[in-house]
Amino acid sequence: MRVDILTLFPEMFSGVLGHSILQRAEEKKAVSYRVTNFREFADNKHKTVDDYPYGGGAGMVLKPQPIFDAVASLTEQTNEANPRIILLCPQGERYTQKKAEELAEEKHLIFICGHYEGYDERIRTHLVTDEISIGDYVLTGGELGAMVVIDSVVRLLPEVLGKEESHQQDSFSTGLLEHPHYTRPADFRGMKVPDTLMSGNHKLIEEWRTKESLRRTLERRPDLLESVELTKEQMKWLEEIKKEIK
Ligand code: SAM
Repeated sequence: MRVDILTLFPEMFSGVLGHSILQRAEEKKAVSYRVTNFREFADNKHKTVDDYPYGGGAGMVLKPQPIFDAVASLTEQTNEANPRIILLCPQGERYTQKKAEELAEEKHLIFICGHYEGYDERIRTHLVTDEISIGDYVLTGGELGAMVVIDSVVRLLPEVLGKEESHQQDSFSTGLLEHPHYTRPADFRGMKVPDTLMSGNHKLIEEWRTKESLRRTLERRPDLLESVELTKEQMKWLEEIKKEIK
């Protein structure tokens, strides 16, 4: 996968892309990142990328020309027919694990990070393929949003995570929240690890994990249960848990 990031603050990305799993993914050649300052593409003498809004009002608006030209340059270089051109914006579709899985199938992602009051609307209507919001709050810029999306997508690429770090059981990947985890010691200051986890009985352990996953989802995110497909056995367990909780 190739990941291009268009931003006015390229330095913000070195910490995130240059460490831990995101860095390892690039070393393993699962992904290559390129961060471009779209100010370089401004066709005016002062390299201005924003201007006052038509109709007046507070704040500055990002001009279309530098961003259109930056995207054209990136797509020409890669020859990738249909890159996903993603605009980070609080008005976009709310980001989910399902969207991360969808983006992880792509060959080329281009992220456009806004700043200031907003974008010229023509960027939205004539350039981008996706508008993503990372939540119902307003950030100062799209950089943190792009980092969140890139992190969650790259960890899904084949062979990026080792076996021990597998993402198959992650919260949301199964449609449920993940079960609780414990590690040594078995007794920490009187707080004990559940007996089943130390029983060595894999069938019982799997059952315990599924039940705890159901319990956790019911307690914390009951909305997720509306769209998950449960087996008959899981439905029975869920009903039992509901009775226990009452
Ligand atoms: N005036 C805009 C509005 O009300 O929709 C908010 C602009 S915000 C101050 C500046 C930039 O931060 C946005 O263009 C976008 O790139 C980014 N941003 C802010 N909140 C975001 C969110 N929840 N998700 C993704 N990007 C966000």
